[in-house]
Order: sequence, then C-alpha cells, then structure tokens
Amino acid sequence: MTTVAAYAAPAAKAPLERTTIERRAVGEFDVLIDIKYAGICHSDIHQVREGWGEAIFPMVPGHEIAGVVSEVGSGVTKFKVGDRVGVGCMVDSCRTCENCLRGEEQYCLEGNVPTYNGIGKDGEPTYGGYSEKVVVDENFVVRIPDGLSLDVAAPLLCAGITTYSPLRHWNAGPGKKVAIVGLGGLGHMGVKLAHAMGAEVTVLSQSLRKKDDGLKLGADHYYATSDPKTFEELAGTFDLIVSTVSAPMDFGALLSLLKVDGALVNVGAPEEPISLNLFSVIGGRKTLAGSMIGGIAQTQEMLDFCAEHGIGAEIELIRADQINEAYERVLASDVRYRFVIDTATI
Ligand code: NAP
Ligand code: ZN
Ligand code: ZN
Repeated sequence: MTTVAAYAAPAAKAPLERTTIERRAVGEFDVLIDIKYAGICHSDIHQVREGWGEAIFPMVPGHEIAGVVSEVGSGVTKFKVGDRVGVGCMVDSCRTCENCLRGEEQYCLEGNVPTYNGIGKDGEPTYGGYSEKVVVDENFVVRIPDGLSLDVAAPLLCAGITTYSPLRHWNAGPGKKVAIVGLGGLGHMGVKLAHAMGAEVTVLSQSLRKKDDGLKLGADHYYATSDPKTFEELAGTFDLIVSTVSAPMDFGALLSLLKVDGALVNVGAPEEPISLNLFSVIGGRKTLAGSMIGGIAQTQEMLDFCAEHGIGAEIELIRADQINEAYERVLASDVRYRFVIDTATI
C-alpha cells in the first residue's frame, strides 16, 4: 500500500479538502500511474452532491486522468515505465459477459467498476483522479499518443469518449447534419469531433453568449434554445442530435428538430426525470436513445483519432485549492470548456 495525497469530499455536498488515501500495492497486472492532470466532469459534481442517489464517502472524484507510468507489475505486457497513459470512467469489469467480450465494458452485465464512488474487486472503495497516483489493471489503461499534451488529453477520457462513441454509432460524417445541445465539457468535444468526422455541425445552446467560441471549435451554425424562433426555423433539420445537457430539458422540442428516422441521443445525466409526449417520436419514426461513455478499445481509437486530427480539449488549468470554486462555475455554465486540475498542486 502507498499513501498518497488527494482531494476528497468527506460527506455529501461538503466542500472538497486535502487528505490522504491508500493505493493498493501494484499487483501482477497492475500499472502505477503518476497522475499529472485530472479533468473536472459534471458527473463529479452530481456524485459529490448525491444528486444521483446515495454515494460512498469520503469521495475522491476524477475520471479524466492523464499521467505517466511509474511502475508495472510482473505480468504487465502493454505498458512500461515512462509511458504516457490515461484512465477514464471505469477501472474493471467482469471481462466475460457478452458486452465485455465485444469490448463494451461500460455495459458489463455485472456492472463495471467505476473509477471512483464504486467498490473494486478487492472489496475496497475506488478513489479517482484528484490525487497524486493511482493503481489500475493494465486492461483499463489507454495510451495517450505523443502528439497530445497530457493536460488537454485528460478530458478526452470522459468528455471525449462520451461524445465520440454515439457520433460513431449513429454514423456522424459527411452529408449528415448533427446538432450538439449544450456547449460545456462534453458539448465542446462533441462539436470538435463531429466536425472532424466531416458532419455539418450546429450548436444548440441556451444563449448566443458562446457563439464565437462555438464557431471556432468547428460549428457551422449556432442557435439559442431560449429563442422560440430556433424551433420554427430548424424543425425537421437534423439526422442526429446529441444532448449533453446536465439538467432536465424539453426533449419533445428537441425531437421536433429531427428529420424522419433521425435520432436524439442523450448523454446528459440530469438528477430529475423528464416527461415526454410520445407523439414526438411516433411522428417521423424517430429514435430517442442514450449512450454511456465508451469501451476501452474505442477509447483508444478516440485518442488516436484526436491525435491524428490535432484535437484536444479547451481547458482552464486550476490548482487543487480551486476545485470548489470550479464546481460553482460549472454549475453556472461558466466553463470554457473544461477545468483541469494540475495534480502537482495537491
Ligand atoms: P457541463 O460542462 O456543465 O456542460 C453542460 C452544458 O449543458 C452547459 O454548459 C450548458 O450549455 C447546458 N446546460 C446546463 N444547464 C442547462 C439547463 N438548465 N438547460 C439547458 N441547458 C443547460 O457538463 P458536462 O461535464 O459536459 O456533463 C454534461 C452532462 O453529461 C452531465 O449531466 C454529466 O453527468 C453527463 N455525463 C454523462 C456521461 C455519459 O456517459 N452519458 C459521461 C459524462 C458526463 P450551454 O451554456 O451551452 O447552454
Ligand atoms: Zn465524466
Ligand atoms: Zn462484463
């Protein structure tokens, strides 16, 4: 066991504070990672505040981890000391169910082991990336290509894969009109990725406040959902809409923007349920779907795609003692576009 410094919430809704945690000894197939950067995902905030239900405390959030391998177990074949690596939202799964076998460990039938706020196979709580080091089985570690800086790569481990996976699954590409709803951490990655895949990209944001940024990120069009004219003008327009919104919103209105056979894929995880008039999917044979992060192999594919296309996250680098302030800014949609913790400041 190694004692490492970390930032943790001692109880639900409590501010995060510096503490120490124990990391397990490096096992045969484990990799010890010196964490360099950790992104702040809105999911961290939902969980620290128990917005999704009962959680495990103390909680060390963080599932957008970028770092460097500093030790490997005797059975490790994929990584060596000095490799630049990432860890996302899960650190284990059963590995034998049909979903694990086809590389979709996020949908493991026994439930994947989340990077934090979960219980590992050793029966101990898992602690995330707001810390100096982490020990992870090599099968749940991905390689960060040389062309990507670790700081802008960290958010790709959740925000990147969570938008890449549905864009690929629903074939975003040339000739497709894709809308991204919400220009936050996930949304800004969705814009960059859909643009790089060759789709015609529209941002649907609450206001036009971030329009210049959206267009620079690769959007072709930018509309405000607060303006009722948006819904008149864009009715029946999109092949695919990916909603990254963290709060309940009017899905009926979004569905009205799809073409016949279009799909609205929700990746946002609001704390409250929504209600929906089902006529909004009947008329137009529309699909309302969801998507959760992505498998390990696809996460590697996404990182390689990002390196090839020169894509990283737009980040605001912060010190660990600014985490609580950053949470407030995320809640106020005041993030451009991902806070990343410099873990050297823990
Ligand atoms: P974020 O940075 O806070 O971005 C969310 C964006 O949603 C905001 O920037 C804002 O964009 C928009 N928004 C916020 N409140 C809204 C409201 N009341 N009405 C309409 N739009 C609103 O959050 P994030 O880190 O990207 O995460 C987004 C959501 O995805 C969270 O719920 C998170 O838990 C979830 N998530 C899901 C997965 C998955 O696997 N499915 C993975 C990661 C995160 P504008 O200012 O442009 O309107
Ligand atoms: Zn996340
Ligand atoms: Zn499984």
